[in-house]
Amino acid sequence: MRQISRLVSVLAAGAIALCCWSGASAQQKICVDPGHGGSDPGGVGSGQQEKVNVLNTSLKFRTWLNTDTSDTGGGGSWSVLITRTTDVFVSLSGRCDYANNNGANRFMSIHNNAFNNSAHGIETFAYTSGGSTSFDLRNKVYEEALAMWPLTPRGTKTANFYVLKYTNMAAELHEAGFIDSSIDSVYVGNSTHQNNHAKSELWALQRHYGLAKYTPSTAVVVTVDNDTSGWSASANWTLSTSSTEHYGANYRVRPTASTSDAATWTANLPSSGNYKVEAWWSDGSNRSTSAPYIVDASGGSVTVNKDQQANGGSWQNLGTFAFGAGNNTVRLSCWTTAGYYVIGDAVRFTKQ
Ligand SMILES: [Zn+2]
Repeated sequence: MRQISRLVSVLAAGAIALCCWSGASAQQKICVDPGHGGSDPGGVGSGQQEKVNVLNTSLKFRTWLNTDTSDTGGGGSWSVLITRTTDVFVSLSGRCDYANNNGANRFMSIHNNAFNNSAHGIETFAYTSGGSTSFDLRNKVYEEALAMWPLTPRGTKTANFYVLKYTNMAAELHEAGFIDSSIDSVYVGNSTHQNNHAKSELWALQRHYGLAKYTPSTAVVVTVDNDTSGWSASANWTLSTSSTEHYGANYRVRPTASTSDAATWTANLPSSGNYKVEAWWSDGSNRSTSAPYIVDASGGSVTVNKDQQANGGSWQNLGTFAFGAGNNTVRLSCWTTAGYYVIGDAVRFTKQ
């Protein structure tokens, strides 16, 4: 707020408004740009393609931006644009037009380098004639990447790259390592390191805006048991305590049948993002070997069949899915091979 008052007073004094990016007072639109795609693989080496690595990293960066619930200076969260989300070719001018036409505040391009197996390390670019805001963003991206990865520092640089030159907003392009280097490729192609890199891009952006780095303060876990609020099922799901493997006091049992009579766990999630979903049942030889859990994720419902004759009395992974904030559901259908039982006990969501 002090930043805004100062800017207002400067304007009132008739001075020229300089940049006010530090402590931005409105939600900021960030355009993430995964390089290459489709017919253009970018660099190749070590059995990897640049277009794949940078898309994976960029999608993880988008997730971090969407997960970050810290104060971004009045907006409450970032508004995220991304030049591609799948393996498609997007022209350089198409990338610039997209960012320009959608009013992006920052443009952040992610690439891997390649140089005949003979170079390694990271470097970050801004447009040669770019402004100090671009240089600051570039420097922060470079610093945070270096802090995250033990790769060779090659420096902050300038270049006349198309996407840096023809975007109207502050822009940087990060070369996250050499795909054809035996040293770097184990990082750039690795999902965990892609995620760490993605987080470092968020931290760079936050420092660039004068904000604290976001880290999830505590694990977000939402558990719904069969006898707590959030559980619903018809009377055909009968209460049982026969097995000692129950979560909480008991569980519910229903004979399998070719009919729609699913039990539903509804979890009220505090924020959108990726959640690991797990289910708990008590096992037994009369259980279904293909109990159909239906996860109603943001991208659509996904059915995950689990063998309830095994692994009872513990959390069993159904997968990690994207969900919006608020009520989200997992259902257990009884519509599978007849002659068995499906067991409805507990489901939990853990934010990733
Ligand atoms: Zn590239």
